[in-house]
Amino acid sequence: MPLYKQQEIKIYNSLSGEKDVFKPIHEGYVGMYVCGPTVYSNVHLGNVRTFMSFDMIFRYLKHLGFKVRYVRNITDAGHLENDADEGEDRIAKKARLEEIEPMEVVQRYTVDFHNTLNAFNFLPPSIEPTATGHIIEQIELIKTIIDNGFAYEVNGSVYFDVLKYNEINNYGILSKRKVEDLIHNTRELDGQSDKKNPQDFALWKKAEPRHIMRWPSPWSDGFPGWHLECTAMSTKYLGEHFDIHGGGMDLKFPHHECEIAQNQAAKGQTPVNYWMHANMLIMNGKKMAKSTGNFILPNEIFSGDNEHISKGFTPSVARFFMLQAHYRSVLDFTNDGLLASEKGFNRLMDAIHLLDSLPTATTSTLNVLEWKQKCYDAMNDDFNTPILIAHLFEAAKYINQINDEKATITKEDLAILKETIHAFVFDIMGLQDTVSTNANGNSDKLSGTVELLIKLRQEARANKDFALSDQIRNELDTLGIQLNDGKDGTSFNL
Ligand SMILES: [Zn+2]
Repeated sequence: MPLYKQQEIKIYNSLSGEKDVFKPIHEGYVGMYVCGPTVYSNVHLGNVRTFMSFDMIFRYLKHLGFKVRYVRNITDAGHLENDADEGEDRIAKKARLEEIEPMEVVQRYTVDFHNTLNAFNFLPPSIEPTATGHIIEQIELIKTIIDNGFAYEVNGSVYFDVLKYNEINNYGILSKRKVEDLIHNTRELDGQSDKKNPQDFALWKKAEPRHIMRWPSPWSDGFPGWHLECTAMSTKYLGEHFDIHGGGMDLKFPHHECEIAQNQAAKGQTPVNYWMHANMLIMNGKKMAKSTGNFILPNEIFSGDNEHISKGFTPSVARFFMLQAHYRSVLDFTNDGLLASEKGFNRLMDAIHLLDSLPTATTSTLNVLEWKQKCYDAMNDDFNTPILIAHLFEAAKYINQINDEKATITKEDLAILKETIHAFVFDIMGLQDTVSTNANGNSDKLSGTVELLIKLRQEARANKDFALSDQIRNELDTLGIQLNDGKDGTSFNL
């Protein structure tokens, strides 16, 4: 029997405002769409956090035995500088500033995005479609919305008619906003828009003569509005009605609200059962922003090359740090937080390393099956990773007690404990045991080799050959192996 039949998941659904029991549309299958990055700059750490939350959710659903189709798009056209459909296309602007082709911008930052996510040990999504690869689908969608009377064309651009839509639907169903309030709150630049009403949003924009990223359409040579691509791609690959749609909290309005409206206007039905939103990441208690200097790039966490952190941290420590907060809580990125997570991560790994050599007994002093279900309960309760981690620390403590002969475990329970810890730590949280992964499983051989080099370095120092001793230290350091000279000899970190 698949695990999902034994576990009941509750998901906080932004649409209902409550934790709802998760029931997929087709038993055993889950369709999940997550809004991906706009590839015009290096991926922001806040976005990494959002994608990590959905990576963890993807991993957990797979662990439970669901067949998951996870679609995460790449926005490579149509995302303007602000959400009111004004300003330049973000990618076209970057291309103009750097004097390169827009597709060079897309290529550069798509590669950066993948490299960063790979470093953090993300699983690739099942499908990663691009906006430019789905222009035809978007044009067809606009035609249907116009035919259904919910969009209008002005001077080659097409806009969604929010007031008309709201007469028989609820624009604001997700963000809980009222259309009347939106009218008063929408700022508009005088004479720069052809919209009938300021809260209308673009489905198609006519391209200015200098705009390179343009496609022919029945209305003009132009490009699709940003909200449209996700409607086109999610329903193309997951069906007109699918299970989960996720993204960062900042996308709830207007992006996701517009997605619902487009679907309802085109197909007469709400597309998604569970809307999930990951909360934001701040740094040292303040909004992270390049302009204020309160900013760090993901790869600077690994190198330590940033004034806000005292040293580099492995991707797994950074991942562990992020998962120690619930995905719906604001996460404050601090050096102290990372240092504490590093200690916790090492404690957990040390306990895992003891698992193979623990003595077994005729009784267990911990109810291992009950502990195992507590781990599932934590994840079933809206993917509560901080509670899960607390249970894993409880297991680490128990393992240390067994090792110190202050507690006991049976052979059967030890097998369950080991399997459960491995599943939650490596498969579901996606952490990596840096000692064994660095050495591709040959950690003993690697440790032995480093110890040999330490011995040779000691001999070199005894012979006053400091050039050689420094060379050994520096070259190991280049490989990411740090030697620490202490009172009791030299130790090392892999
Ligand atoms: Zn989207």
